[in-house]
Amino acid sequence: MTEVQLQEFKLEPDSELRFEVESKNEKVVLEVKTGYAELFGTELVKGKPYEFHTGAKVAVFTWHGCTVELRGRTEVSYVAKETPMVVYLNVHAALEQQRIAAEDQGTRGPVAMIVGPGDVGKSTLTKLLLNYAVRMGRRPIYVDIDVGQGHISIPGTIGATLVERPASIEEGFSQQAPLVYHFGHKSPGDNVELYKTIVSRLAEVVTERCEHNKKASSSGLIINTCGWIKGTGYKMLTHAAQAFEVDVILVLDNERLFIELKRDMPKFVKVVYLPKSGGVVERSATQRTEARDVRIREYFYGTRTPYYPHSFDVKFSDLKIYKVGAASLPASCMPLGMRAAEAKTRLVAVTACAPLAHRLLAVSFAAAPGDDVLHSNLAGFICVTAVDAERQTLTVLSPQPRPLPNTVLLLSELQYMDNH
Ligand code: ADP
Repeated sequence: MTEVQLQEFKLEPDSELRFEVESKNEKVVLEVKTGYAELFGTELVKGKPYEFHTGAKVAVFTWHGCTVELRGRTEVSYVAKETPMVVYLNVHAALEQQRIAAEDQGTRGPVAMIVGPGDVGKSTLTKLLLNYAVRMGRRPIYVDIDVGQGHISIPGTIGATLVERPASIEEGFSQQAPLVYHFGHKSPGDNVELYKTIVSRLAEVVTERCEHNKKASSSGLIINTCGWIKGTGYKMLTHAAQAFEVDVILVLDNERLFIELKRDMPKFVKVVYLPKSGGVVERSATQRTEARDVRIREYFYGTRTPYYPHSFDVKFSDLKIYKVGAASLPASCMPLGMRAAEAKTRLVAVTACAPLAHRLLAVSFAAAPGDDVLHSNLAGFICVTAVDAERQTLTVLSPQPRPLPNTVLLLSELQYMDNH
């Protein structure tokens, strides 16, 4: 059922308006008419129109009451009085106490990791806590180790970035020089060794950066994680907890995970159970794939501020393309004598060939394969849009004009069809 046109909602204090934009090519415009409202922790400006597009699932929350107008077709729109926002605000207040203490004593602020199964609102809570922190004048570090969605960069990566202002409603957190590491798959299970290696590396570099930035250090970290919580997935979470030396784990909506973590974590780690919001919407596999595609398209083409990527041809022979660990490429692409999966974290040279079409390539800062590539931050990404085997060239989509930097390129399993 599709509801249409102009809708006005009066929200009581402590309630939220939830809506979804489902139908293709639809646009919904939101405007706060009176009072104060926020969207996942970002304050909305009264009288300013905000646009939402296909796939958006939104909650406009108010602590004080407000009236809100929606223009356009929404799939669902309703006001909910029951929300866990007071509980989340209490979590923020507790973290804030730790930050005050850290500032006074010149120690490290709270390192909080958010865990739970898929679609319980982990990413949303991460955003909320970061926004509240930055609105209090803090400069927290946002860490995302969810390779499935890759909120800081693109799917197939993990990363960290310093948050200096609240997330923009339409474009998310602004990113200046984020730290990004290549994984190249959608789930940690595709290469557990590599995942552990890069999570440890990210933790190491973030800790190092905190040592040089007092403000960030006392503000602490908020870490978003994958929804894979059983078996090896659980081990990946405890590994991350150890690597980042977390002192708070917020468990969303999963009692078993809460009990396991309480049992397995050292005593100084506070494990807190939190309810999920009734508004969190489950996404189908197709919607997840679409969300990944949107992330990648945004990387190349921007969101509200459009980017204009470059497209050009490069010779196979001019590129240093490597793949990390096990083979998901046909044997014909592997150098002679190299057995697939010799070592999960070893670099394997890839001979450019037809299956590279539509693949993403991470541009490393490392100049040569010997230069500790897995531990190197990424400069960015390019996408192979076409392969000409006869002329031995690849056509690539790149945020930067030619030439490509003469550094190592890491092949990702992720694909992107550029039909912009
Ligand atoms: P997870 O990170 O656990 O997979 P997300 O935080 O990405 O979950 O939430 C899933 C979806 O639900 C997102 O599209 C998000 O915008 C939406 N969502 C979260 N909280 C609410 C809410 N209170 N009302 C409406 N939609 C919500």
